[in-house]
Amino acid sequence: MDDLFLKIIQGEIPSEKIYEDDKTFAFLDINPNNPGHTLVVPKKYSRNILDIAEEDWIALMETVHKLAPSVKDAVGATGVNIYMNNESSAFQEVFHTHVHIIPRHDNDGYRPWSGTPYQEGEMEKIGETIRARIV
Ligand code: AMP
Repeated sequence: MDDLFLKIIQGEIPSEKIYEDDKTFAFLDINPNNPGHTLVVPKKYSRNILDIAEEDWIALMETVHKLAPSVKDAVGATGVNIYMNNESSAFQEVFHTHVHIIPRHDNDGYRPWSGTPYQEGEMEKIGETIRARIV
């Protein structure tokens, strides 16, 4: 399988590396929403949130937590979005799990998406269906 982010982790493709430990790797996104936009990836392959092992996810979140304040402060941002795309329908383009750390500035104009209210009774029904599937 052609795994772009594995090639970046292994140094086969150059990146602006931010951080590395035994389980995770972080580098600057080549096409940032705002300067400083960082991607954090697990070294062990998974496709996305839907198949990543719990221990790899925990390591990923620890690194996101460690890096977010530094990413924000380094570019003088006033906020940060932690963002993730899972599968094509959710805009995933690179199929190696990754979390985006996106520095945000007041009025920077970037709006992820808008919401749509539920129909009468729909929210309770979906809540019930989700709760029944949790393993
Ligand atoms: P996603 O839509 O969540 O799969 O995001 C993939 C991200 O990877 C995009 O924001 C791209 O700009 C970024 N990307 C793709 N190729 C590279 C690369 N060689 N180095 C850094 N970031 C990349």
